[in-house]
Amino acid sequence: MAEDPHDWETETRLVRGGMARSPYGEISEALFLTQSFAYDSAEAANARFAGDEPGFIYQRFGNPTTQMFEDRLALLEGAATCRATASGMAAIHVALTGLLRAGDHLVAGRALFGSCRWIVSEWLPRFGVETTYVDATDLEAWKAAVRPNTKAFLVESPANPLLEVTAIGAVAEIAHAAGAKLVVDNVFATPIFQKPLALGADLVVYSATKHIDGQGRVLGGAILGAEPLMTEAYKDILRHTGPALSPFNAWVLLKGLETLDLRVRRQSENAAKAADVIAAHAKTRRTIYCGRPDHPQAAIIANQMTGGGNVVAFDLGSREAAFRFLNALQIVDISNNLGDAKSMATHPCTTTHRSMPEAERLEIGLTEGWVRMSVGLEGPGDLSRDISRALDAA
Ligand SMILES: *Cc1c(COP(=O)(O)O)cnc(C)c1O
Repeated sequence: MAEDPHDWETETRLVRGGMARSPYGEISEALFLTQSFAYDSAEAANARFAGDEPGFIYQRFGNPTTQMFEDRLALLEGAATCRATASGMAAIHVALTGLLRAGDHLVAGRALFGSCRWIVSEWLPRFGVETTYVDATDLEAWKAAVRPNTKAFLVESPANPLLEVTAIGAVAEIAHAAGAKLVVDNVFATPIFQKPLALGADLVVYSATKHIDGQGRVLGGAILGAEPLMTEAYKDILRHTGPALSPFNAWVLLKGLETLDLRVRRQSENAAKAADVIAAHAKTRRTIYCGRPDHPQAAIIANQMTGGGNVVAFDLGSREAAFRFLNALQIVDISNNLGDAKSMATHPCTTTHRSMPEAERLEIGLTEGWVRMSVGLEGPGDLSRDISRALDAA
C-alpha cells in the first residue's frame, strides 16, 4: 500500500512532506524561478483559467516551489491548506482583512507584536473595523468583549515580549459561541511545540522569518486553516492584492523546515538552561520562561504546549541595568529578531515596543528593566558564561 504522508512522524513530514519532483528526479527541492507558465494550447489556457484543469498560471497566484513549502507546512501543522505570504505581517494583515469588513468588530489580546498592534489600532479603523483589547489570560474579559458584530478573535500565545499564555481551547469556544473565528499567531511556540488548530483555533499565522528560516536570511509568512474557510476568505485577496512569497524565499524556508524540529528542540534545551542561570542570579528580579514551573500560566502550558520554546524574558529592575547587561554580552548579539541559530537579546521598551504608549506598556507589565532573549544554538556552557558575566555587570 502507498505511504500516506498524514501517517508520517513529524520529522519525516519536515524532510519529505510536499515534495513534488520534476522529471529530473532531483533530491533537493527544485527552485522554480519563473513568473508565468506556458500552456499546450489555447484550450488548455482557457481550462486552467476556468479552474477546470489544475496547474500554475502566474507567480502571484502560485508557484511549484512555493506550493512545496505550503504543502510541507500544512502537513506539519495538520491543516487542510496553507497559503504562504511575503512576511509574517502580510500573513496577519491578510488573515484579518480576509475575515473582516466595515462594521465588523474584532477582539484581540492586548499583548501583541508591535506591527500587529499598529494594524489593529491604526489601520483597521480606517476601514470601519473596531477592536476591543482584552487581557488575553482572562476568559471573562473575552466573553465580555463580544458584540453582536464580532467576527474575529486574535491572540498571540505565548505573547511578545513577556510570554503571556492564553488558553486557546477555551478562547476558541467563546469565539465560536459568538459566531467568530479565532486567529492564533503561533510564532513563539512554533509548530513543533503547539498546534492551535487541534486546540480549536480556526486559523494559524506564522512569521516564517523566525524559527522556520531560523538562520537569519529571508522574510516569509503563512496562514493555515481548514476548507472551505481558507479558499473563501483568502483565495481572491491573495491573488489580487499581491503579498506573494518569492519562490527563492520559499525554497530557503523549505530547507529550513527540514531541520526545524532539531533546531527548535536544541534551542529550547539551551533556553531552559539559560533561564535557570538567569533566574538564579542576584541581579534578576523576575524570570519568565514557558518551560519553568513558576511561569504564571504553567497549568495552561502543560495542557497545550509540548516544549518551553527558545525565548526568555527577565527583569533587571531598570533601563540602566538592562543596558549594562546588553552591553556586557560578548557572544549573544543585541538584536530584535528571534528564532535564529544565533542568540540575541533586546530591550523591548526602547526597540520592539517603543511605539506602544507607556500606559499600554504598563498594562502588559512591560517596565524598563525587561530584557527579551532569543536563545540560539551555541554551546550551552558558552551561553551560561556570557549571560552570567553580563548579569554580573548589570
Ligand atoms: C516577527 C513577528 C511577526 C512579523 O513577522 P515578519 O516576518 O517580521 O513580518 C508577527 N508576529 C510575531 C509574534 C512575530 O514575532
